[in-house]
Amino acid sequence: MLNIVIFGAPGSGKGTQSDFIVKKYGLVHLSTGDILRAEIAKGSEIGKMADSLISKGNFIPDDLMINILNANIDLYPTAKGFIFDGFPRTLTQAEALDSMLKKRNIKISLMLNIDVQTNELVKRLLERGKTSGRSDDNLQTIHQRLQVYEAKTLPVIQFYDRQGKSNRINGTGTMEEVFAEICKAIDSVK
Ligand code: AMP
Repeated sequence: MLNIVIFGAPGSGKGTQSDFIVKKYGLVHLSTGDILRAEIAKGSEIGKMADSLISKGNFIPDDLMINILNANIDLYPTAKGFIFDGFPRTLTQAEALDSMLKKRNIKISLMLNIDVQTNELVKRLLERGKTSGRSDDNLQTIHQRLQVYEAKTLPVIQFYDRQGKSNRINGTGTMEEVFAEICKAIDSVK
């Protein structure tokens, strides 16, 4: 089984690259952002709670996020592998993911750390905000998301470094260039 964590700041291109990876490697894409936005669209209790946190650029609590991911993994018992997009975002989530997978006798094969400079991230997110309709693609929320990313999410890189699984990917080239680098990293562990 091939299980990938795609990691990077907001605007680094995780979603776009995940789509390419899914097409080429046939993995199930689990994006916690997409899952939460679907809950908001449904107007569920989880959605109502997530809505205000997301629009302010803050995280959904770890325990809730971990339960949501756990339940979503179970929806795909025949998956060839997963690509985890937007999870883990904290050390607690990274540890929880390892134990969730261990219980199923599977593990993370590699982590892709898509690296993009902050000024480029802000530019991309503002551009996306013109058409995305997302409540969090505005300047104030973008700054908050980047701050939360630095404080809570960056330590996750060391977590996968310690396991020898993190691969830095230069995220500033064209989509095709970035994807080529990603394929090299994936193919080296397959
Ligand atoms: P994304 O689409 O990955 O940029 O996620 C959008 C927003 O959903 C984030 O800014 C968070 O508010 C929330 N979110 C998504 N995934 C997580 C997670 N793993 N932990 C906490 N909050 C999350």
